[in-house]
Amino acid sequence: MKVQLLDLKAQFKGIRSEVLSAIEGVCEDQGFILGQRVADLEADVANYLGCKYAIGVASGSDALLLSLMALDLQPGDEVITVPFTFFSTAGVVSRLQATPVFVDIQADTFNIDPEQIEQKITSRTKAIIPVHLFGQCADMTKILDVANRHGVKVIEDACQAIGAGQNGQKAGTFGYTGCFSFFPSKNLGGVGDGGLIATNDETLRELLLALRVHGSRSDYHHDHIGINSRLDALEASVLLVKLQHLQGWNEKRAKNAAYYETLFADAGLLERVTLPHTVPGNVHVFNQYTIRAQKRDQLMGYLKEQDIGHKVYYPVPLHLQECYQPLGYQKGDLPVSEQMAADVLSLPIYPELPESHMEMVVGAIKDFYGKH
Ligand SMILES: *Cc1c(COP(=O)(O)O)cnc(C)c1O
Repeated sequence: MKVQLLDLKAQFKGIRSEVLSAIEGVCEDQGFILGQRVADLEADVANYLGCKYAIGVASGSDALLLSLMALDLQPGDEVITVPFTFFSTAGVVSRLQATPVFVDIQADTFNIDPEQIEQKITSRTKAIIPVHLFGQCADMTKILDVANRHGVKVIEDACQAIGAGQNGQKAGTFGYTGCFSFFPSKNLGGVGDGGLIATNDETLRELLLALRVHGSRSDYHHDHIGINSRLDALEASVLLVKLQHLQGWNEKRAKNAAYYETLFADAGLLERVTLPHTVPGNVHVFNQYTIRAQKRDQLMGYLKEQDIGHKVYYPVPLHLQECYQPLGYQKGDLPVSEQMAADVLSLPIYPELPESHMEMVVGAIKDFYGKH
């Protein structure tokens, strides 16, 4: 591929010896489950985020699932979230036999429209899961206000937003819990699956520590019905290395986004594409650089011909997914989400992306619109 959407090998090159010696250390110790490295990572991430506690778990999806389990979500309970997100945001609600209730998003941020939350709250609403999509925080002031007025908990899906901020506070530290993913393509990616829950509540921390090991606080004594969802020592050892680079990598992503802005403006393309909008007060960490493009599908065909990496996150909003037909949503029910699914296109933005590649991306898009 001429221009890759994501090149993890470029990142590995810069930290190769640190990562390999971290992995070697775990192999020498032969301690693979939880242990000191996981505890160290939890402390370092909590410190980085500016919250009291962090609990390592097996994935971002499990971080969401365990947060809902800690709430003692019951079948028939409702959880408000968005349809324009990765599947697991709503999938975890359904796994607990509760019902996801979808609220539409704002076109400029792709995040939940806080003004539409209140009308969806019922006596069965237990939580709101805002998603900080693509690396930018949803409007936490308004979301917390409506949640607090109704006694509903907020679980932040910050899987794409580690290091993102709003009014000086980091994503994942506003709510009841903040959920993070270490899936390799995230801004802080491991060498496999991994996740983490952030919280400021000590009782909740104790409960989550138990829930991730089958609900037991001491060996073979089970106070709760939990699951097996631990972070591996191997993951933690690599993440400890990578965490030290996260701030720099996030800044590189933002720098790349700024360069795209210059390139798109200079190419005279601002009538054809809508670039990402960062709300004042937000620090955007650009897990994805997602534009809206006229004739999106034709443009994708052209980029494919030109061997330029790109992807649509997400092509089908969750309320229109096959598995959610039983919820009874129709096309047109959540019009902004549906429009975004038709318009969005994510372009390469990873920290090591060469400027020449961004120039090729924008050059190809300019060629396309010159002909269409
Ligand atoms: C990646 C992601 C998840 C799930 O994380 P996993 O670690 O893959 O389970 C959940 N929500 C969003 C928005 C994500 O991007």
